[in-house]
This record gives sequence, structure tokens and C-alpha cells, in this order.
Amino acid sequence: LRGVVALDGPSGTGKSSAARRLAATLRARYLDTGAMYRAITLAVLRAGVEPTDTERVVEVARAAKLTQTSDPDASRTLLDGQDVGAEIRGPEVTLAVSPVSAVAEVRELLVEHQRAIIADALATAGGIVVEGRDIGTVVAPRAELKVYLTADAQARAQRRTKQDTASGRAATVDAVLADVQRRDAYDSSRRVSPLRPAEDAVELDTTPLDLPGVVAALLDLVEQ
Ligand code: C5P
Repeated sequence: LRGVVALDGPSGTGKSSAARRLAATLRARYLDTGAMYRAITLAVLRAGVEPTDTERVVEVARAAKLTQTSDPDASRTLLDGQDVGAEIRGPEVTLAVSPVSAVAEVRELLVEHQRAIIADALATAGGIVVEGRDIGTVVAPRAELKVYLTADAQARAQRRTKQDTASGRAATVDAVLADVQRRDAYDSSRRVSPLRPAEDAVELDTTPLDLPGVVAALLDLVEQ
């Protein structure tokens, strides 16, 4: 792969797994931008700061030492030197991440960080698959390919429930559906960088597809 593939869309569309596999198949780098918003959210919670206290959230975000690696086989998130990959997927962070990522200064900091990771990947590996909510619209508006993944809310809730159960967290489809819908509503209606497809994005409905199916569809788009 030469250049950037931008994958955006709401949660539970199979974005993360598909992005990782696509990157590995293309021998490219992989960037999970959601992990970065989650890590800042964890820092906020650890500092005992309310996620809605914008001023203090910005202070925490500025002070946090965040490292996000871009190896598709071992994507790691370090906060102040500690691997927080498991903790950032927990329910506390998932509940608080939307208000934290709606703060303009937090987004500015992270977008700058993401662009630096992308520039480094382009210089060393030639290509990178970047996954998030605003990649095609804000982070990499000149990406070679932009795909906006969608899926029925029910299908997305079922996928997320499976993932949660597999990683040892109890979850019911109804509870997960409510969470997915709450986050989508928040992410789509925020003032800064709301979740929406870029004008030149290709939409891919993953409802009827399994993971290999999503990866195959993405590979087709890359090769077009
Ligand atoms: O992708 P993931 O579910 O890990 O993202 C967690 C949250 O981070 C999203 O619900 C959204 O609020 C935020 N996010 C964002 N912009 C991105 C990636 C994630 O606002 N590029």
C-alpha cells in the first residue's frame, strides 16, 4: 500500500478488526485513533476529573504521555509508560469517552499526534490504515481511499456483545445496543468533528458480512 486508507464509521461496524487485518495483508501500518481518545479518557478518570469539566480535561490531556504504536500485529497503547490496552476497553472508559472526545483542544492535540504517526508510517512503511470517526474529514483529508463503514444497530450491538463476552466482560445485547446508540448520538451531534462520512468516502454496509468478507471488500476497494 502507498498512502493512507481512512476507515470511519460508528462503533461495532467491524472497523477495528478489519482495519488491522487489512493493514497486515497490505504490509502497511495501522493506527487505532479510538484507542488514543480512550487513553486520554483513562487519564482523566485516574486524575479524578469529571469528563464534563472541560478545563481540567484539557490540562490532563496536555500532561498525559501517550504512546500509540502502529504495528498491525501488536498495536499498543501506553499511558505514562504503562500498557493500558485492556483497561481502555472497560465500561468506565467507554462511558466517559464521548464527552472527553467532544472537547476541541483534546481533538487538536490528538489530531496533531495522529498526523505525526501517519507521516512517520508513510516515511518508513509507505502506507497506513487509519481507523476512527474523523479520519477522512479531518485527520487525513487527502487519503488515497476513504471508506465509511455502516451496519444495522442490532448487528453492531451483537458484534460488540460477542467481543465483550470473549474478553471476559458480562454484557447483554440490550445493554450494549443502548450504549452503542448513546455513543453514536453523542459522536454525531457534537460541535467539533462530528461523525459523518467525508464527501468522497465510499460507503460499505457490513451488516451481511463476516470479518473476512469485510476485509475482502476493502481489499477490492484498495485495488480499484
Ligand atoms: O473506536 P472506539 O469505539 O474505540 O472509539 C471510542 C470513542 O472515541 C468514540 O465513541 C468517539 O467518541 C471517540 N473517537 C473520536 N474520534 C476518533 C476516534 C474515536 O471522537 N477518530
